[in-house]
Amino acid sequence: MQFSDIIGLTEVKQTLLNAYQRNHVAHAQLFLGKDGGGQLSMALAYATFLNCENKQTADSCGKCNACQKYNKLIHPDLHFVFPTFTSKDKAGSEAYLKEWRNFLGESSYSSFYDWTKFIEADNKQCLIPVQEGRNIIQNLSLKAYEGQYKTLIIWLPELMNVNAANAILKILEEPPEKTIFLMVSNSVDRMLATILSRTQMLNVRPFTDEEVREYLEKQGLTPEQAAQVALLAEGNLGEALRLSQDAQDDKQVMFRDWMRDCYRADLALLVKWSEKFGTLTKENQKAFVQYGLTMIRESFLYRYVGEKGIHLENEGLNFVQKFHVFIHERNIDRFVLAFNESYRHIERNANAKIMFLDLSLKSMAWLREK
Ligand SMILES: [Zn+2]
Repeated sequence: MQFSDIIGLTEVKQTLLNAYQRNHVAHAQLFLGKDGGGQLSMALAYATFLNCENKQTADSCGKCNACQKYNKLIHPDLHFVFPTFTSKDKAGSEAYLKEWRNFLGESSYSSFYDWTKFIEADNKQCLIPVQEGRNIIQNLSLKAYEGQYKTLIIWLPELMNVNAANAILKILEEPPEKTIFLMVSNSVDRMLATILSRTQMLNVRPFTDEEVREYLEKQGLTPEQAAQVALLAEGNLGEALRLSQDAQDDKQVMFRDWMRDCYRADLALLVKWSEKFGTLTKENQKAFVQYGLTMIRESFLYRYVGEKGIHLENEGLNFVQKFHVFIHERNIDRFVLAFNESYRHIERNANAKIMFLDLSLKSMAWLREK
């Protein structure tokens, strides 16, 4: 993770960079922020920066040995402690390292709730158990293998067992050389005051709507979709990513079913579809038409150049693998023209029901063309 991977939060990044430039790197730093905020990403980017072998002015290089290993979370001097549940054959963070790497690989904006779902904790209690204290002491008493610093990232220290917390406190009182503790917390209310007094606290504010929008657009959402999701997410990037995925899934299912009914030429169903489209918001109608256009284009490409020519994965790819037989050089122009026209009609507030019925009837005829 590099600072440049994190949208916005410029002032937070600058605070950390200043600390480094003035030789004031705190050996214990607390990143405090709300669910779906940038606090964990920021701790990862900061740890990468401190250990980078070829630091740039405002970021790690992203290419050196240390950066690569930090990026994959496999650097031997990088340690993690996070809440887990204890089962017959598994206990403590080290036993969950594989799941943890996969979890962070998906997103470093997820919440504690997401984590408990990810490791299928069900109703079992997740916390940082007492043995973690011993593990931490053990890991940190070793010399750094290759990094500049040994780094311990503690995610959600507020969920630490009190004995584990006391072990941490002991190390904080007499910190080993070249060791940094980065704690990432949602709430300091439940943390030991003695630990807090030994850490430097950094507030990571929630993302602004503007920042969420920018991030989503980089993920491929249209400006309209991104604005709509950002409004609902209220600065929670984890939530924003979930919402945009849901919106994507809905569109996928809807487009697939609609095209199937067009092919069947069931007029009564097509009238129902047009009514359903009419109930969507204007932004959703536009997003749907744009999505349909993308799937039609990708199907055409798939037909002529195969999988290597397209950018879809999972469900999208599945769909195109079946749908491509219906899109060919005799109808592609007409589809593209009609979908583009529909998009413009929606923008000009045309009657959506009539417009979608018209698009359904055209699609019906073109899909059945040999
Ligand atoms: Zn580097």
